[in-house]
Amino acid sequence: MTAERKNSLYYLLGEVMTGEMNSIATESLKLWHMRLGHPAEGSVKELVRKWLISADASSKLDPCEQCILSKSKKLTYPAGIHTSTAPLGYIHSDLWGPAPVATIGGGKYYLSIIDDYSRKLWVFILKEKSETFQKFK
Ligand SMILES: [Zn+2]
Repeated sequence: MTAERKNSLYYLLGEVMTGEMNSIATESLKLWHMRLGHPAEGSVKELVRKWLISADASSKLDPCEQCILSKSKKLTYPAGIHTSTAPLGYIHSDLWGPAPVATIGGGKYYLSIIDDYSRKLWVFILKEKSETFQKFK
């Protein structure tokens, strides 16, 4: 099949068949599963039963790698084994940035520090990443 480009669109050059039904060759359930955006096996077979697509409905859909990966979940982090017995004995910190839009004051990064014992939180907005250690002190 060929196409002709007009401005930014391609127009297919072909003929439309009328007066007779186009028969679609029998395809595999897996191919229809992928074409239709990975619906459940029962949904694809329902389309076959309603004669909307042609496939062997008696066959079984093989496990689909994309479906398995998309439904998998990340494992959670293991529980921490530290015990903090005094303020600032153990802290959690994160440096985020650069922000796509700077703050009015020119800040592009933020540093958060959480004391594990008291759960007190400090947040610092930084213009440069190099300011991190100074703010930490
Ligand atoms: Zn799939």
